[in-house]
Amino acid sequence: MKLEEARKILGPEYDNLPDAQIEGLIFFFSKLSHVVIDEYTKDPKGYMKKLNDIKKSNTNKERHLANKMPPKATLDQKIKRHIEHAKNCKCRPMPESIKKEIQKRIALQSK
Ligand SMILES: [Zn+2]
Repeated sequence: MKLEEARKILGPEYDNLPDAQIEGLIFFFSKLSHVVIDEYTKDPKGYMKKLNDIKKSNTNKERHLANKMPPKATLDQKIKRHIEHAKNCKCRPMPESIKKEIQKRIALQSK
């Protein structure tokens, strides 16, 4: 890739970047694209799976942020959230106290 082409892609925000730095960027990205292409060529299915796993884990992170427990959640709310969390995400096990509470409630219901 030529310098002018790279500058066009980068846009006017990078106009004051010196040529040497732009050349460095071109070199870096051409290396990077080789790594990506090599990995994909070696094992396309595995590569796509890896990509999907990254996407999934990002979705889970977003879900975590959106589902932060309110500071004064009632026990009912906590249980509901922990059940939802366990369904959608395997990042950590359900706390023992919540598990016990769920078991207690199931036992009460079946009486
Ligand atoms: Zn999680």
